[in-house]
Amino acid sequence: MSFIEKWLHEAVPALVGGEWRKGTETFAVDNPATGETIARVAELNAEDTRDAVAAAYEAGSAWRATPVKQRSALLRRWFELITEHADDLARLMTLEQGKPLSEAKGEVTYGASFIEFFAEEAKRMAGETLPSHGADKRLLVLREPVGVVAAITPWNFPLAMITRKCAPALAAGCTVVIKPAEATPLTALAAAYLALEAGLPAGTINVVTASKPAEVGEVLTTDPRVRKVSFTGSTPVGKRLLAQCASTVKKTAMELGGNAPFIVFDDADVDAAVDGAIASKFRNAGQTCVCTNRFLVQDGIYDAFISKLTERVKALKVGDGLADGSVIGPLINQAAVDKVQRHVDDAMHNGARLMCGGEPHAAGERFFTPTVLADVTTAMAVADEETFGPVAPVFRFTRDEEAIQMANDTPFGLAAYFYATDYRRIWRTMEALEYGMVGVNEGLISTELAPFGGVKESGLGREGSHHGLDEFTELKYVCVGGL
Ligand code: NAD
Repeated sequence: MSFIEKWLHEAVPALVGGEWRKGTETFAVDNPATGETIARVAELNAEDTRDAVAAAYEAGSAWRATPVKQRSALLRRWFELITEHADDLARLMTLEQGKPLSEAKGEVTYGASFIEFFAEEAKRMAGETLPSHGADKRLLVLREPVGVVAAITPWNFPLAMITRKCAPALAAGCTVVIKPAEATPLTALAAAYLALEAGLPAGTINVVTASKPAEVGEVLTTDPRVRKVSFTGSTPVGKRLLAQCASTVKKTAMELGGNAPFIVFDDADVDAAVDGAIASKFRNAGQTCVCTNRFLVQDGIYDAFISKLTERVKALKVGDGLADGSVIGPLINQAAVDKVQRHVDDAMHNGARLMCGGEPHAAGERFFTPTVLADVTTAMAVADEETFGPVAPVFRFTRDEEAIQMANDTPFGLAAYFYATDYRRIWRTMEALEYGMVGVNEGLISTELAPFGGVKESGLGREGSHHGLDEFTELKYVCVGGL
C-alpha cells in the first residue's frame, strides 16, 4: 500500500543530503506490545553524521536565501502531506511506540500543527530599527537564522518532538539534522520522506539513525558547523549534551524531565479534578514529560478524590494499541516496567495503601496495570523520581502553604496542575508554583500556540508560539554611520 508498508519489509535507510543511506549495519526496531521486530534500520556512525552536518551546512545558504513565502509554501505542503497520511503515520507510531491508535492519531494532528503554525509564523520574523545615539548614525537589528540545527528527540512522542523543533528551525531559514530515538526511528523517517515529497530541498532535513547515540551525539555537539542543539529527553543526558556543547559554545534548547505535581484543593470540583487527573496521568501510559507524577490532595476532599479516581482507573482498558478500545498500551521496554514496579514496591514497603493495580498486566510482558496508591509520603521514591508509567501516587496535605512547599520541593520545574475554585487561591497558587507551565482546572495544556518548556533542571528554552521561532534566530546589530 503506502511507502510505509513497503519499508516494514526491508532495511530502512537513513536520510543524508537528500539521499537514502543504508549504512554498513542495521539495528532492530520492535513493537513494544508484542516484542516482535517490525523493521531493521540503518546504523549510522560518526562519519555519516559528519556527512549529514556537511549536507545541512551546504544547503543552508540557499535555504536562508529562499524567499519566505516560498519557504512557507513548502512547509505548508509538508503539513498537508502529513495530514493526508495521518492514518498510516499513526499506525506506524503505534507499532513502534505502543500508544493507542487514537492517541497516535492525536499526536499526528498535534505534530502537524507545529508545521502549519510555523509556516505562517515565518512571515513575521521581523527585525527592527532603533532610535540612534548620533545624528549621522542609524541602528538596525537584523533577525537571522542561527544555522545548522541538531534535533535530538525522545521516543515518547516520535513525531511531535521532531516537528516542534524542525518546523520553527526550517521556518527561520535553518537546516536540520535529526537524531531520533533508537526505539522510534520509523516515524521520523516517514516524516522526513514526506518533507522531501513536499519539495524541501536536499540537505535541508537529514535523519541520522543509530542505536548507539553517544557516537552520533559527540559529532552533533562538537562539530563547529552545528550552531544549535535542540534536545528533548532525560535530564542526565541533557546535562551531558550541554557540557559537550560548551566546547564550541552552541546555542542550546533543553526540554528535559519533570516531576509534575497535581494539587487538588478542598474547594475543587472533584469530578473535574478526576477527569484532569486521568488525562494528565494516564495518557501514553504515563510516559509523557508533563505527566502528573504526584497528586497532592487536601484533607477535606482526599477520600472523595481517591475513591472516584480509583473507580475510573480500574475501568481503563489495557491492551495492544492497535486493538479496539485500548487506552493503556505497553511501556516502551522492560527497564521501564521494572522502574514502575520498583516505585510501587518501594511505596508499599514504606506504608502506602494499594487502591488498585500494582503489578504487571496479563496483556503482555511490557504492560503494567494502572495503579492508584493512597497515603503516599515524601519518604517514598515516587516523591522524587519521574515514574514514567501508569501509577498515581496520592499524597495528603492540610494547609495551602504545605502543598506549595511540597510542589516546589524538587529540582524539576516543567509542568504543574491544580484544581480549585476560589479566585484568590487560584492567583496565589499560580504565582507561587516554580514551573514553566501551569494548568489551572485543566489537565491537558500542550498546544502549538503556547510556549512549552521548563525551569530549573527541566530545561532551557521554549517550543511553540512565536517564542519558539525566536529560539532559532540570532540578532545582528548593524550600525550605519557617516550619514
Ligand atoms: P533519553 O535522554 O534517554 O534519550 C533522548 C534522546 O537522546 C534519544 O534520541 C537518545 O538516543 C538520545 N541520546 C541518549 N544519549 C545520548 C548521547 N550521549 N548523545 C546524543 N544523544 C543521546 O530520554 P528518553 O528515554 O528517550 O525520553 C524520556 C525522557 O524525556 C523523560 O525524562 C521525559 O521527561 C523527557 N521528555 C521531556 C520532554 C520535554 O519537552 N521537556 C518531552 C518528552 C520527553
